[in-house]
Amino acid sequence: MKITNIEVFELKIPFSTGVKNKVSSNFLKADALDFCLVKIETDTGIIGWGDAFAFHCRRAVAEAINTMIKPHLIGKNPLDVQQINFELQKKLHLFGRYGITIFAISAVDIALWDIVAKHSNLPLCNFLGSVGEKKLPAYASLWRYEDAEAVQDRCQYAKNLGYKYIKLHEVFTSEVKAARNILGDDIPIMVDTNCPWTKDEARQMLNSWEEYSLYWVEEPINPPEDFESLSNLRADTFIPIAAGENACTSFEFKKMFDAEAVDYAQPSVTKVGGITEFKKINHLADTYGVQVMPHSPYFGPGFLATLHLAQSMPNPGLLERFFIDFEAYLYPKEIFTPQDGFFKTPDTIGLGLDPDKDVIKDFAVKTL
Ligand SMILES: [Mg+2]
Repeated sequence: MKITNIEVFELKIPFSTGVKNKVSSNFLKADALDFCLVKIETDTGIIGWGDAFAFHCRRAVAEAINTMIKPHLIGKNPLDVQQINFELQKKLHLFGRYGITIFAISAVDIALWDIVAKHSNLPLCNFLGSVGEKKLPAYASLWRYEDAEAVQDRCQYAKNLGYKYIKLHEVFTSEVKAARNILGDDIPIMVDTNCPWTKDEARQMLNSWEEYSLYWVEEPINPPEDFESLSNLRADTFIPIAAGENACTSFEFKKMFDAEAVDYAQPSVTKVGGITEFKKINHLADTYGVQVMPHSPYFGPGFLATLHLAQSMPNPGLLERFFIDFEAYLYPKEIFTPQDGFFKTPDTIGLGLDPDKDVIKDFAVKTL
């Protein structure tokens, strides 16, 4: 089998955060989400789909795939996905082991695994060694509102929909307190802070948050790779620490685990180097006794890949559902809609679904 063509699709799909007439925070400011999809064609007619992390960096990632990766792949056998990933990482190492380059490799790797599983006539999770019958617990991952009323509104709504875990993206105590007040003690609450604080600021904040019985606090320290400070903070607080969405490759996760920096590791399949690298991180986390909680605020092939990977893990942890509503979805909305708090992995071959061609056409970004 040979790769005959690689095509990149850049999309921007408008979304709503669900709360009207509220000024949303400057952090994460956006009303449409960037997508960078990759379609890989082969001489057998089998087609694979992948996507790269593209929020606010869509153009750069697309260019990296087209100019840095595509020339290396035409003519290669897609069934050799792990070798291809290794060679791409080796060839492109001088452009950075974190960021755009690895995001681009991740997209191609996901598409190649889609082809491998389709070629084997199996759902990807079967190919990865799972029957695919696990119920995958979901959590609602709320937008950042910086508004206690809006947080309460969304918490209540998520609880009504059957979510059994809810994550905030907030940095002020007023919103954390408001969430706990409206949810009572029944629903575990996580708080994703997205790297705002020095280690001293983080210690003060987490000390003051201990009374809210948080399930984890995510990325409290800037910069994200300061694993030593994270480890010291973790030793100083009862609140479990989660991090990993800003780490690429298993080598970075090994450093994180060696430093005993986290209770929960959050690899992101569209960032770490794709399915190939995510599998390595899973094995590493097993060996170090660290629970993986996949980072998956995605709505394309990266989300499906996360479902299949989670199926293949003995203990899949909690899966993220970014709690925003789109004007259109690349797959039927049910895929992103947990039933009574649980996701279901598609049981058709490959990733299970190909993206909707009309949505790709309707929301394509015009590029020069
Ligand atoms: Mg996060």
